[in-house]
Amino acid sequence: MTDPWHMLSEEERLFCDVLERLCAERIAPRAAETDETARFVHDQLATLGGAGMMGANLPEEYGGGGISAPALLRAVAIVAGACGSTASALTAHYLATDSILIGGTEAQKQALLPGAAEGRALGAFALTEPTAGSDPADMKTRARREGGGWRLEGAKCFISNGAVADFLVVYAVTDPARAHRGISAFIVPKGTPGLSAGAPERTMGLKGGHVFTLGLDCHLPEDALLGGVEGQGFKTAMQVLDNGRIEVAAQCLGLAEAAMATAIAYAKDRVIGGQPLTDRQAIRFMIADMGLAFQSARLLAQDAARQRDAAHKGGGRFSLAASMAKLHASEAAGRIADTALQLLGGYGYTRDFPVERIVRDLRIMRIYEGSSEIQRSIISAQLLA
Ligand SMILES: Cc1cc2nc3c(=O)[nH]c(=O)nc-3n(C[C@H](O)[C@H](O)[C@H](O)COP(=O)(O)OP(=O)(O)OC[C@H]3O[C@@H](n4cnc5c(N)ncnc54)[C@H](O)[C@@H]3O)c2cc1C
Repeated sequence: MTDPWHMLSEEERLFCDVLERLCAERIAPRAAETDETARFVHDQLATLGGAGMMGANLPEEYGGGGISAPALLRAVAIVAGACGSTASALTAHYLATDSILIGGTEAQKQALLPGAAEGRALGAFALTEPTAGSDPADMKTRARREGGGWRLEGAKCFISNGAVADFLVVYAVTDPARAHRGISAFIVPKGTPGLSAGAPERTMGLKGGHVFTLGLDCHLPEDALLGGVEGQGFKTAMQVLDNGRIEVAAQCLGLAEAAMATAIAYAKDRVIGGQPLTDRQAIRFMIADMGLAFQSARLLAQDAARQRDAAHKGGGRFSLAASMAKLHASEAAGRIADTALQLLGGYGYTRDFPVERIVRDLRIMRIYEGSSEIQRSIISAQLLA
């Protein structure tokens, strides 16, 4: 079989090999405990910071790794295969730093990105509101000019890393008359008076990657406006989500591969009625279906990643490829993990194996960063056009 990651450079391969070892030694062994205790993945993110992973999405000029999008896909999948919570907190941080990279002024990039890339400052991306999730253009959070700066008022919900992050990129309406063109983005540092957070939500999975409801009643300085221009926020958020959707696909690949590997190892070992499970054709078909679902998800995600690199070099968007990759990977990974659990029988339903945790961690992939229904809407709109 040819190497499925043949497109990576030698240097990128080395980066991924080192990351894989680090994740196997220091992150995967803590995944079950993280799930049980629901403790935020601070230590795991610090470990990733040391490996250059907190800035792997950024160019070298801002302290990032400068790796290709397929290499980033592989790297995020490696982290997710070790611990879904860690990968989710990591990719939420990418949404914040990508917001600054795409929409920020040079001064904002220089001020925030190198620290974020080193893992010294954690980011959060605050778009969703209690009444605006799938349709963020309907957001109510308002920013008005006040005393040479801004007054930011409103609420955000389900914000990954929200209360833990050192800085947040918060999207808010600056001109209600202009609909989505009246949305802008603001950099809000941790500890800003009037920024409040509740306790983390009690989620089904990804328990070590906390999500928060945030209250906003803050005064911000003039230069908190991302990019220094109003009305660019929605466009920035959509471009960030194109990247983010490939990173969701990466999380799905990592989690699905871990479930599949557990199930295959189990099926080889398990003897029923004197026969190994793998002698049964029904079981072999389940393994074939998992392999096919995984391969198709990986190919679509790699294609989207290649399009991401091409778009970044030549301008343009890759929304269709990103939506397809996210939709297919999240649905395929859900099926793979469910099949893996089935293959383990009763043991699959216990916490003795990681598969039940993976099933729970994966469920949100069909909802966040645009649900499956929203991805189908984006894909069909592009095809109809
Ligand atoms: C663990 C977790 C982490 C998250 N992290 C972040 C984060 O870091 N930052 C952030 O901003 N947000 C984050 N979110 C929010 C997430 O992106 C939203 O939950 C998601 O976009 C869906 O929005 P909603 O929950 O308001 O659902 P709704 O928009 O109310 O949707 C409800 C249902 O209706 C369907 N639906 C909605 N509109 C349509 C339509 N037009 N056509 C067909 N069906 C439709 C949806 O698919 C869904 O099934 C996170 C959520 C969770 C649970």
